[in-house]
Formats: sequence, C-alpha cells, structure tokens
Amino acid sequence: MTLHIKTPLIHSRALSLASGRKVSLKLDALQPSGSFKLRGVGFACETHKRNGARRFVTSSGGNAGYAVAYAGRELGIPVTVVVPQTTSERAKSLIRGEDADVVVHGISWGEANEYALSILKEGDAYLHPFDDPLLWEGHASMIEEISRETERPDLVICSVGGGGLLAGVVEGLGRVGWNDIPVLAVETDGANSYDQALKAGKPVAIPKIKSVATSLGANKVAARAVELAREHPIQNCLVTDAEAIQGSVTLLEEHRLLTEPACGASVAALSRVSELYPDAQNVVVIVCGGVGTTSQQLLEWSEFYGPGSDQIAAGHPDAVNTHASQ
Ligand SMILES: *Cc1c(COP(=O)(O)O)cnc(C)c1O
Repeated sequence: MTLHIKTPLIHSRALSLASGRKVSLKLDALQPSGSFKLRGVGFACETHKRNGARRFVTSSGGNAGYAVAYAGRELGIPVTVVVPQTTSERAKSLIRGEDADVVVHGISWGEANEYALSILKEGDAYLHPFDDPLLWEGHASMIEEISRETERPDLVICSVGGGGLLAGVVEGLGRVGWNDIPVLAVETDGANSYDQALKAGKPVAIPKIKSVATSLGANKVAARAVELAREHPIQNCLVTDAEAIQGSVTLLEEHRLLTEPACGASVAALSRVSELYPDAQNVVVIVCGGVGTTSQQLLEWSEFYGPGSDQIAAGHPDAVNTHASQ
C-alpha cells in the first residue's frame, strides 16, 4: 500500500484536436491531496516513519505542506507546518483540516523555512518541498504507471517550480528504459527560476516571483534539476500567466478538473510543441493538479486575463511575491 493512488492516463480529444497530436493526460490532480506531491511526500514520510520519525516538519503552505499533513494523518504521525504571513487563510485551513499544526513565522518562505529548521529536535523529520532525492524517487512512480498503460510517448510535458517534479519524471523515465524520451519543462514568465538557472548553468536566486502560478514560485531551483539538463534531453519554455490560466480553464471545461495555473501552464505549453518538437506525435502532459485555486478565483482570473484583455501578469493584485506556496 502507498499513500498515493495510481491515477488514470486519459486521451484528450479536445487537446489532441487543438494541437494536431495525440495528447494524453496523466491525471495526478486526482491524488487524494489534490496534487502529484503526495507521491514523493508519501514515499518520504513512510521512509521517515520506518526510520523512527515521531513528527514531520515542513515549511510549505502549498501543495507540499498539504501533502505532508495528509501523509501524517494517514500514518498517525503529528505534523507541524511553518508558513510565512503571506500564506492564505484558505491554505492554512486546508492544512489544519488534516489535523496538522500551522505555525506562522516570517514574511517570506525563506524565513519560515529557517524557523522550521531551527525547531527540529530529536525524532523530527524535515520535509523539503522539492529538493530531496526521496521525493524524486516517489514522484518517479507516475512514469512507471504510464509505461504500463501506453506505448512509448514522444514527449513528456511537466511544470517546474523547484524542479522536484522534473527530477522525478526524469528518474522515472530512466527506470523504465525511456532515457531518450525528451521532457519539456514549463514555467510561467514571472516564475522563471529554471530558465534563469539553465542560462547561468547553476541555480540562481531570482529577485521576485510575479506570477499567479504560485506553486511554480521557487525563487531558486534544486541543483539536481540543472544537472539533469546535461544528462537527459530536456528543453524548457515559458508561458504567460494568461496562457497558464487558459490551460486550467481548458482542463475545467473539457475534462471537468479544477487545477492551479501551475498545472494549466503544462497544458498551455502544448502550443510550443510544433516549434520545439515538430516530430512528436504522442505527447503526455503531467496534470500535476494543485488545491490552491478555487473555481471562483479561476473565473476571476480568466475574466481579468481573458481574450480582449491586455493585462500583464504584474498588473494583477494576486501576482505578488509569494514563496509561500513552496
Ligand atoms: C509543487 C508543484 C509544482 C512544481 O513542482 P516542483 O517539484 O516544485 O518543481 C507544480 N504544480 C503544482 C500543482 C505543484 O503543487
């Protein structure tokens, strides 16, 4: 038994018609914690429990924190989640709903994270939101599932925040002997820490996150994600907030799935495939999910950024600097 579930891989008629390719969706939005994070977090938490951990501590007010809270409740281990003041009431109440303790500390994710590290005592296990080989090992299971259900895809598309999902996808491709299948790594313009890292050849801190895709808002990616681009065929691309929102709207309207723009970004990246991978016929999009966006919020964003609007990301009140989600 694992904490995560095996998720469906479905053919998307709508996205296939729109992109002129065969598009399949790996529906990790259906994980009980609402995002793919439960794969890695669940695996890490089970490992820590086996090794005697008596409490889980994390600093993510986003999907990682929520997954840790879920895992802790399922495993009967208390959880403390340290979040900065910028974390939404909704996120805090979701985490508390999983019986975790929420501690508010600091004004940025960095401050909350430092505090989380400072309160660790004997018997505590610390869970990083993306930079941890245990997470990658857990995330990799999604590719094993895909390999059992379909012929070789020509391309896998996934979103990048801190690069944990990407590292897991690449690890999974290696496990099933798909080392040559390329990965398109997607960010929004205002959360482009992977793009910057690839250009610099190493992780660099970007000064400010300005995107509605807050789950992509790691200001510095994991070093492993940069290294992987030298070991595996990876290209990256950027989409606008408006495109990412439209991606989520498409998932809602065509597949009745509510996701964050962090996930919609990967759907939006289908529009880049003809240019970047003209020969790719079979494309798998990782639908990474996310619990941070309500239907109301998505509707407001789509009205604000929708067709006919000339708004740019930085103009929207929600497009602020939040590392809270990581
Ligand atoms: C965490 C998350 C991401 C980014 O994953 P990383 O491992 O940080 O790259 C993307 N989408 C959603 C919904 C997430 O929760």
